[in-house]
Amino acid sequence: MTQEDFYRVLDLSVVIPAHNEASRILPYLRAIRDTLSVQSRSYEIIVVDDGSRDETAALAVRQAAQPEFVFLQLSRNFGKEAALTAGLAAARGEVVVMIDADLQHPPELISEFVRHWRAGADMVYAQRVDRTAESRVKRLGTRWFYRLMNGAHRFAVPPDAGDFRLMDRAAVDALLALPERNRFMKGLYAWVGFEAVSVPYTPD
Ligand code: UDP
Ligand code: MG
Repeated sequence: MTQEDFYRVLDLSVVIPAHNEASRILPYLRAIRDTLSVQSRSYEIIVVDDGSRDETAALAVRQAAQPEFVFLQLSRNFGKEAALTAGLAAARGEVVVMIDADLQHPPELISEFVRHWRAGADMVYAQRVDRTAESRVKRLGTRWFYRLMNGAHRFAVPPDAGDFRLMDRAAVDALLALPERNRFMKGLYAWVGFEAVSVPYTPD
């Protein structure tokens, strides 16, 4: 076993960026753990506290006393993209899933992500199928944004997809190798390439 193998012995890492999520984070972390425990023999749940001003860090630290949890605390609020990057850098899994802490992403989808990964996908992302809750103006703006983004490139950023996704270790390492400091993650996921599959879901 090489030193690298020694550090990378987990099947699956879940990265959760959290900023002022104290009101809801604990039951959510437990729900994610329950989903994972039937999914994989070895997993870790990495909570990244992104400079919260509420009790998020204190609650996550307490949860992290359990061996399947890892807690990272950023020194101030850096923004979600930086928090995700810190979590990815710490992740030891062969597969890494990123999920928000604000209950907008159903953890049950993780098993479907893993199914697609086993079938050969390097990247699996959740794609929202219903945006009726958002204003027409925002929808129009979103459509134009993606048209502009995708107009002149060799890769396409899928619309209605966010950070809720699974990445194979190869894709994680490719992302981490990028030198960007101000990261637009959705663009970078597409830029690194790899075989990607979408999983549609309807937000509550
Ligand atoms: N978040 C974070 N840092 C921030 C803002 C948000 O880590 O500065 C976390 C937040 O706790 C949540 C996720 O990133 O888990 C998504 O945040 P939000 O719901 O505000 O973004 P959106 O759903 O609009 O993408
Ligand atoms: Mg949200």
